[in-house]
Amino acid sequence: MTTFNKSFTQQEAIPDAGIERALEVMRSGRLHRYNSAACEPTETELLEKEFADYQGSRYCLACASGGYALHVAMRAVGVNPGDKVLCNAFTLAPVPGAIHNAGGVPVFVETTDDFTIDLDDLESKATAADVHYLLLSHMRGHLADMDRLMAICNRHDVVVIEDCAHTMGASWNGKKSGSFGQVGCFSTQTYKHMNSGEGGFLTTDDDEVMARAIIYSGSYMLYERHLAAPPKETFARIRFETPNYSGRMDNLRAAILRPQLANLDKQCRRWNELYRITEAGLKQIPCIRLPERPEAEEFVASSIQFALPNQNEADIQRFLKRCDTRGVPLKWFGDADPKGYTSRFDSWRYLGEAPSLPQTERVLATMCDMRLPLTFDEADCRLIVRIIAEVCDELFLSAEPGAHSS
Ligand SMILES: *Cc1c(COP(=O)(O)O)cnc(C)c1O
Repeated sequence: MTTFNKSFTQQEAIPDAGIERALEVMRSGRLHRYNSAACEPTETELLEKEFADYQGSRYCLACASGGYALHVAMRAVGVNPGDKVLCNAFTLAPVPGAIHNAGGVPVFVETTDDFTIDLDDLESKATAADVHYLLLSHMRGHLADMDRLMAICNRHDVVVIEDCAHTMGASWNGKKSGSFGQVGCFSTQTYKHMNSGEGGFLTTDDDEVMARAIIYSGSYMLYERHLAAPPKETFARIRFETPNYSGRMDNLRAAILRPQLANLDKQCRRWNELYRITEAGLKQIPCIRLPERPEAEEFVASSIQFALPNQNEADIQRFLKRCDTRGVPLKWFGDADPKGYTSRFDSWRYLGEAPSLPQTERVLATMCDMRLPLTFDEADCRLIVRIIAEVCDELFLSAEPGAHSS
């Protein structure tokens, strides 16, 4: 029996240029983002400028984590305690966590069979008079129809904040994810598209939102020491009104990230090559369904999701177990018991009684998820596909009348 022996959580090494720059920062002793020699721009300041340029946004703030960026974004756009915030029901725990951290109340929106936010459900929920915000998660890199989504939100005066933890580098119709809403948030945590262990970005074109975000992040009164920030006049009033929620990035992380940013588009192409091979292979397996991905969606597939739409919960559990024994540990968001990084909306019990989201439950019940780290090559992807195909064959095909038995 063939098994797969590589780790799905093994990322590539930090590029040598990043390691060298990090060593320089450590040798200088100036790790704090505002600690510079003779007012030279620090690694963090330069990184912010470079990421703003990459995104095509006016401003960028580097901070301690993606979840922190989401929290500060909520605050900076004006979410007040008790405010409702629309949010995908299919997302990762830091997303409702960021809303909760800002005092907001998540209102979950259903999920389509293609794993994006359901725009019909969004429209019906955005119509409510007391709903003014959407924290949109491009979950697992799947972009909804952004033209339609923005039209809905504009029609109902809903401010959009994008969680781009899985879409750094991705676009919709040539426009970067993160540049549709008022704020874009990104993560540079190890399992995302750039790796600094922990870290995140917040981007926006809005002067006041960025000024607030910078002060929230813990700039003290050093906000003029930012290269991708609004003019200092913007800070005049808000600097007295905005608390310091300390969550800066430091020069060591920024030093590691700058060479990765220079290489990001190339890495994105490599992910998509692995994805295309895996997708093509999985498409050949009769019991597996791959999501439709519209042409306008220029995704970055650092992971792959697929469904086994005709299988029940017991079948899925057996399938996962058999794949796992053969070295292919798949994630399953349908599990009633949250495991590892995956949890479902009904396990965020601090939010009170779980809402009824039958469509999301149905979609998550049969959806499997797998990372495609760049430490894999084409042969690895083919072997993984082969194992999944064999397991499907053993479990599901042979049970059908007339199917071959092996
Ligand atoms: C990782 C992630 C976050 C949070 O990022 P951290 O840097 O880990 O705080 C937010 N949303 C999604 C969808 C994520 O995957």
